[in-house]
Order: sequence, then C-alpha cells, then structure tokens
Amino acid sequence: MTPAPRVPAFVVILALVATAIASSVATTVGLTAQSAPPATPALDTLPVHGQVSLITGAGGNVAVQVGPQGVLVVDTGLEARADALIGAIRRLAGDRPIRYIVNTHAHADHTGGNLKVAAAGTQLVAGNFAAQVGDRAVQGAAPGAFIVAHENVLNALSAPKGGGAPAPFGGWPTDTFFQDERTMYFNGEGIQLVHEPSAHTDGDVLVFFRGSDVIAAGDTYVTDGFPGIDVAAGGSIAGVVESLNRLIDLAISEQFTEGGTRILPGHGRVSDEFDVVEYRDMATIVRDRVRALRQKGSTLAQVLAARPAFEYEPRYGTNRAWTTEQFVGAVYASVNQPAGTVSTTRGGNR
Ligand SMILES: [Zn+2]
Repeated sequence: MTPAPRVPAFVVILALVATAIASSVATTVGLTAQSAPPATPALDTLPVHGQVSLITGAGGNVAVQVGPQGVLVVDTGLEARADALIGAIRRLAGDRPIRYIVNTHAHADHTGGNLKVAAAGTQLVAGNFAAQVGDRAVQGAAPGAFIVAHENVLNALSAPKGGGAPAPFGGWPTDTFFQDERTMYFNGEGIQLVHEPSAHTDGDVLVFFRGSDVIAAGDTYVTDGFPGIDVAAGGSIAGVVESLNRLIDLAISEQFTEGGTRILPGHGRVSDEFDVVEYRDMATIVRDRVRALRQKGSTLAQVLAARPAFEYEPRYGTNRAWTTEQFVGAVYASVNQPAGTVSTTRGGNR
C-alpha cells in the first residue's frame, strides 16, 4: 500500500460511495441543484440499553447517552451530515444540552461533525459563567461542548502525518489524555475510555458506559467488513486482536455468551459478546495464516494468492470500501509489529 494521506483510502471510498448514493437519490427523485438543498436522508435512532442510544447514517455509528445532566455523544459522523445528526440528537434529547463529545479515533467519518456538534452544545464549568441553553441563561455553563479524546486524535487532526490539511480548529479535541485509560462520571454512571495503542489507528478508545452496560467500540470492531487497519496511522493486526480481546474481557454475557453487555461497532449492527468472540477468532485465524506465510518468505502477492481469509470472504469481503485484498495487505504489512505499549497506567483517573 502506498502511504495514505490523512484520510485513509477506505474512508475516502466510503465518503465517495455515500456521496454517490446521495447524488443518485437526488437524481432519482428529480431534484435540481438550483432549486433544492442537497438531499439529507433522515438518520435512524435505536434505543440500545439504559441511557444509551445508537444513531446510524451519519457516517460512522454515533452513540448518544442522554440523562439528567445532559448529553454525551460518541463520535460525530461526516461533516456533511452534522446538521442531520444534531437534529437526531435533539429529537432524542429534547432541549437537554450536549455537554461532551468523545471521539473513538480521528477518521473523518467519526470526527467530521465535531465542529458543528460542539458548537451546538454547552459545557459545564466551575465559576461565575453563564451561557444560553435553549431560551434561558444558565449559570455555570459556557458555550461549546468539550471534545474528549486520546491525544493521538488531537495530533492526527491538528497535524496530519501525511501532510494534509488539518481539521478545522473548532473541531479539535479540547480535553485529551495520554494514559491507557481515562474515566468520567456523567449522568449518574461511570464511563471508562480505554485506549488501544495500535489497533485501527494509534488513537482508538473503547467507551464503556458501566451503568447502561454498553460499549462503543469505534472502528476496532465492525460488523460490515474485515477489521479496518490504518497502518499509516499506527494501526496493526496485533492491536486489533488485542482490542477485540479487551472488548470480550469488558463484556459480560447474560447466558451462554448471548445477550448482556451491548457492543456498538464503528459500522454495522448492535452486537453482544458472542459476536465479538466470533470476529476475534476470524481476525486471529487470518493473522496466524498470514504470519506463517510471511515467516516462510512469501511475498504479499503470494499471500493474496493463497487467500488466507477464504471462508470469511462471503461475509466480510463484500465491503467495497475495505476489500479483502486491502485487509490482507494491512495484516501482511503489520503482522510483525507488537500490539503497542504494555499497560502501566490503566485505572488512573484523568
Ligand atoms: Zn475509522
């Protein structure tokens, strides 16, 4: 693979596919560019568990926690869908203010709406501040929601490794951490942000709502394709397997590994522990096959010809935005990398 620019190929392709679909919809219904705004299909909202709901259709999946203190949003979708996303959040949460955004990683289909969603929110601050919330001035609030992320997300958005243009300043994380874990307490439940140092990217976090018993996994876990590994952004197959194992550790099934903790993938459908176990097994099997071939001296072309993901291709290889060849190529490129730094600060608070 050639070194990717800031936005990896599969995100670009995803965005292009979304654009193509949007424009074909516009053509089908006979909209003209002169007389109508761009088509913005309504997003879907699904209650998941406890205080957490899932909003789909904005790009990557968006998890929304709504409670008495306000709203916490995990990821903000594509920039072009930000207004629709804010509308969906409002329908779900009424006039309760958006207090926090948490980014699972830096990709544009998960952070593109940061600027607008943050601007639509108000943060809680100590001291003598007041801000407009809906139609009233509220003491102890300031405009703009906090954006919480691992510092590698801030690095990727503010100074992209590939030298591309940085994301707009107002969409950068305002509250970053560098430890293995960050904890928050909001709307009456503990929330763990668990950093996975080298999985899909170098800045992935799993967002575990402990009271609602829901984990937003970001793109470390998806149900609509093979694991996405952005090697140029610090991802690796070892880190992907490790993050899937971490999800399995955190999740508690109700019975026979079914039900219980809900896991929200970065793309795709709501899952439980058993789904992740199956996915982890697939990732592990393909990794082992590619590693064995590479250790025998096989070139990437020879590994691709051996089809190490053969029996999984009907299920996961149909994703045009992240093909079997791209996945196997990323595994081949990263299979000799370690998963990342060993946890030394896990459990720290802020
Ligand atoms: Zn991603």
